[in-house]
Amino acid sequence: MIRKKVLVTGGAGFVGSQLCERLLNDGHEVVCLDNYFTGQKANIVHLLDNPFFEMIRHDVTMPFFIEVDEIYNLACPASPIHYQYNAIKTMKTSVMGAINMLGLAKRIKAKILQASTSEVYGDPLVHPQVESYWGHVNPIGERSCYDEGKRAAETLFVNYHKQNNVRIKIIRIFNTYGPKMHPHDGRVVSNFIMQALQNEDITIYGDGHQTRSFQYVDDLIEGMIRMMASREDFTGPVNIGNPYEFTIMELANKVIELTNSKSKIIRMPLPSDDPMQRQPNIDLAKAELDWSPKIQLDEGLIKTIAYFDALIKS
Ligand code: NAD
Ligand code: UDP
Repeated sequence: MIRKKVLVTGGAGFVGSQLCERLLNDGHEVVCLDNYFTGQKANIVHLLDNPFFEMIRHDVTMPFFIEVDEIYNLACPASPIHYQYNAIKTMKTSVMGAINMLGLAKRIKAKILQASTSEVYGDPLVHPQVESYWGHVNPIGERSCYDEGKRAAETLFVNYHKQNNVRIKIIRIFNTYGPKMHPHDGRVVSNFIMQALQNEDITIYGDGHQTRSFQYVDDLIEGMIRMMASREDFTGPVNIGNPYEFTIMELANKVIELTNSKSKIIRMPLPSDDPMQRQPNIDLAKAELDWSPKIQLDEGLIKTIAYFDALIKS
């Protein structure tokens, strides 16, 4: 095995911290960069004693220089409440962050992977979503700072590849959950589990008929590693998600059942532009990466519930 030096932006976040851990376990040297907007020191504190791990507080909207072999670009708030908190900053993070990291990759000849999102498909009119679908995004809506920021980042990646031969990899991540999500992150799985464990009302936005396809974080990390190692001329974008689709109502009932909760379900207004359905077509990931998700919803929820339960008790 060749020990690589790897930069992970957004490395103190939910996905980033687990990626750092996996890369260290695989024998690589990891530099984690984060401004701690939605990330937490608690996610990486156990790695700080590792001589092959380094943490740097930095904002990706500012240029950054380092010598590494590979870059995973994850820095960006992912939960709607957090990315809408400062919409301009979110867009700057996606766009200027991509420019800064691509500029770095170009200069040091590093391979770079972009954590894009199923949100590039917006409220999709094609179902399930294939990579060739261009999407249905409102450019001036509540979600546009995130959706359009991520779309622009894909454009930048593709053009740095075309014009400057930067070695790029783009993955489109579908709803991912698991341990180390922030308990007040606002996304549906962490909200429902936290509410159920505390016997608080479960907040369903809208009628609960909207669907999502939930992927356990370990499957995503495996997909990211495989994509980074994929054949040189495969740049993506490739969908990484679990194709089993559930309504939000089904998710609420599952969480209540698995936690044995006394919580009641209540309805809240549906935020504007909330996508009605989402399900990845993963044929490309299967063919190119020999990847498919291994952990189904019940198993993943049980692990995630155990994590939040321990967190509440501590
Ligand atoms: P997260 O909010 O837990 O992690 C994002 C991290 O980026 C945080 O640690 C945050 O502090 C950091 N960050 C934000 N702005 C920054 C900036 N300007 N400079 C430096 N660091 C900054 O979210 P996550 O779920 O771990 O998502 C990680 C990546 O994966 C994001 O790019 C997200 O868009 C993408 N993604 C995630 C999902 C999902 O379901 N989890 C789905 C699609 C795409
Ligand atoms: N949602 C919900 N209750 C919550 C949080 C979210 O009903 O407490 C809904 C939300 O309106 C959306 C779905 O769950 O339809 C997924 O929301 P999340 O924020 O997790 O992800 P995204 O909408 O970005 O896919």
